[in-house]
Amino acid sequence: MTYDPSACITCGACCSAFRVSFYWQEAQQRGIDEASLVQITPWRVAFAGTDRQPPRCVHLDGAVGEKTSCRIYELRPHPCREVQPGDEKCQQARAAHGMPLLPPSCQSPII
Ligand code: SF4
Ligand code: SF4
Repeated sequence: MTYDPSACITCGACCSAFRVSFYWQEAQQRGIDEASLVQITPWRVAFAGTDRQPPRCVHLDGAVGEKTSCRIYELRPHPCREVQPGDEKCQQARAAHGMPLLPPSCQSPII
């Protein structure tokens, strides 16, 4: 299913609300710069900045709630790809930043 990603351009909340962690080998496979990662267990890494409070991924560019972009969009790992506009994690992130929740219509597939 394809979702309308237009809300993300003026958001970026999910890149600055959670620790974004994944298996270290995924970083190698995707060619993600090791310098942008912190080791959190022997087998898992997280994006630097998402391991702090308040979290903010080192790869996020721009101002949350205004205009943002991911500097490594093509390389981003599965936890970044799994969040979809309007899903539970998206809404949690938006709420954490005091942003309005997205309407259910944003989860309609693009025709
Ligand atoms: S929180 Fe939702 S709308 Fe905002 S960037 Fe993430 S997926 Fe997109
Ligand atoms: S890698 Fe990109 S999509 Fe993933 S959390 Fe960081 S800024 Fe967001």
